[in-house]
Amino acid sequence: MNFSFLYFDRINLYRLILYLIFEIMNKIEHIGIAVSDLKKGITLYESLLQTSCYKIETVESEQVDTAFFQTGESKIELVASKNADGVIAKYIEKRGEGIHHIAFDVDDIYAEMERLKNLGFTLLQETPKRGADNKLICFVHPKSTGGVLIELCMNIPE
Ligand code: ZN
Repeated sequence: MNFSFLYFDRINLYRLILYLIFEIMNKIEHIGIAVSDLKKGITLYESLLQTSCYKIETVESEQVDTAFFQTGESKIELVASKNADGVIAKYIEKRGEGIHHIAFDVDDIYAEMERLKNLGFTLLQETPKRGADNKLICFVHPKSTGGVLIELCMNIPE
């Protein structure tokens, strides 16, 4: 008698319970937009969203300057390269300015990275790194997500 079906049912039941207890991807935390000139980007988005940029921050690990806007529950993050051969500069050179990534808020970035890795997604980091706005972040390669660069981000507990 083969009981393997019972095993799979139990796994799926645990999964279902986990999903019911914890929302895995809570919400879109922010949308990252690549701009070539941060100052011009800020002026543009301040007038577009009719709200002030609430934070400008340099992320040394990524060699980028960022600017944040709150729009309801979510944020807009403008990202500009600090140098001519940075990732964002190369991105703009290839694809122009525009939407660069979508970031999801997660409660436990380590668990979420493990879950995605097990499902076959390609993570760009082995361990989470420090991002802007007091977050631990990890990127998921667009080749495994239908062409969209996905960022997971978790608030760093204070
Ligand atoms: Zn981001």
